[in-house]
Amino acid sequence: MKASIVVGSGLAGCMVARCITETGAPVILIDEATSPGGLLGSASGPRGLPVDYGTHYVLDTGPRALVDYMLEVMDPANWITFTGNLPEASYFRGVMDHDSGCLDAKLLVEQKLWQGIKETFERVERRPVENDTLERTLSNSLGPTIAEEIYAPVMHKLFAKRLSDLGPSAMKTIVPMRIRMFDGELSRALKKIPRLDKVLAYEKRWDHPTDIVKYYPRGGGVGRWANDFLDKLRDMGAEVRLGDSVASFDLEGNRIVRCGLKSGESIDVDRVYWTVSPAVLAKSLSVALPSDLPPPSFRDLFLVHFAYRGHPATEAHYVYNFEPDALPYRITLYSNITNTVGSDGIVHGTAECLIDPAEDDPEPESVMTTLIEMGLFAEPFEILETTTHRRRRAMVVPDLFLHERAGRMSDAIHGRCDNCSLIGTAREPMFGQHAILDDVAKVLGLSV
Ligand SMILES: Cc1cc2nc3c(=O)[nH]c(=O)nc-3n(C[C@H](O)[C@H](O)[C@H](O)COP(=O)(O)OP(=O)(O)OC[C@H]3O[C@@H](n4cnc5c(N)ncnc54)[C@H](O)[C@@H]3O)c2cc1C
Repeated sequence: MKASIVVGSGLAGCMVARCITETGAPVILIDEATSPGGLLGSASGPRGLPVDYGTHYVLDTGPRALVDYMLEVMDPANWITFTGNLPEASYFRGVMDHDSGCLDAKLLVEQKLWQGIKETFERVERRPVENDTLERTLSNSLGPTIAEEIYAPVMHKLFAKRLSDLGPSAMKTIVPMRIRMFDGELSRALKKIPRLDKVLAYEKRWDHPTDIVKYYPRGGGVGRWANDFLDKLRDMGAEVRLGDSVASFDLEGNRIVRCGLKSGESIDVDRVYWTVSPAVLAKSLSVALPSDLPPPSFRDLFLVHFAYRGHPATEAHYVYNFEPDALPYRITLYSNITNTVGSDGIVHGTAECLIDPAEDDPEPESVMTTLIEMGLFAEPFEILETTTHRRRRAMVVPDLFLHERAGRMSDAIHGRCDNCSLIGTAREPMFGQHAILDDVAKVLGLSV
């Protein structure tokens, strides 16, 4: 019997496989990795403590039907529920701020801050204009001072590009989109003005109203979700092949009729749902990539998982490090999430770094030195162990051609093949759970 092939067991692939299985059609979910979940996956870190690869929470946000599928495998006894804002902190210009994970323009020298405020206010009444680069997006909303003094070094740290070489959507990734400029009461008042609300952050994270519920497992990392989800899929009759990938496709006209797996197996195909790099699929289908656009560049995700004896100096789950010269951009303290600093006094966490694919692995000791300089560990502490993990090409650099490149590649693949759907980041650059679930719903034509 012909099967629907779903490639990639990240969030996108899991959700597609669940939706197709629901219809009763045979489904085979394939992932080249031996553990599932992609960036929503976990591993065993130092001392066997669970650590995550990218995303750290399952969120109650997105099309309802899909969120219901996500939640159905989460036994409330095994998952901690968080409402309101997560405790986030930030580090910038040598200051650790325990009250917010957003960038703080108040750390600029006074003259620059006032210049930035003046430029921001001058723009409130201006008509929105077309923004073709991140530089123009920021200059048109916050003015050149904030753009150059704050965002240029932070974005360069993440993507090794100038603002003028990044696309307008580059901010919709791992940098909190709003910036702090004013104290609590004033920021609350100014955020009532819609145009300012788009760019200003609350001074303290708890001023920000949110009703999105977040979940983290009591035991194991967030990848527990993917493991349980795949068990559910298997129970429903889907086949899951981890540690395997598609080696070739046989086409008849514009239809894929068979696919060969690296393991040597050949599968009769009804339809292919592709949630991973479209370049791999384009190559298998001999579809030419756009040659008049510069090729995409990527960042590798380098993770330093650590365990130390002591106590965290913050209650934050996430700490953003906006210091331009310091490698890690975000640190997650699992012990704060699960409240597990017990009698053994062991804290564990992960420092996430984005690096050039051509670069050698950074020294974990240098990353740990940064965390110590940030003041994350209360004295006395003893670092017990670190492990590292590198995810190659985890993130495409959001340059000026990101969307055009992806759109043309997607058109070319769909022009070559009638029974193949690109979904999630395979179809278009997008970031985060909500965007991915929206895309799954859209491509599968689900009513939401
Ligand atoms: C550094 C970083 C941090 C992030 N943090 C967050 C966060 O905190 N919150 C949030 O909501 N989102 C975050 N994201 C966004 C995250 O990418 C999405 O939320 C989501 O998890 C991505 O799911 P996906 O299915 O598109 O891809 P992935 O999670 O990347 O999954 C793709 C899967 O496909 C497999 N695969 C790849 N190529 C092949 C192949 N050729 N054949 C077979 N299998 C293949 C991989 O092994 C992987 O399991 C982060 C992203 C990055 C890069």
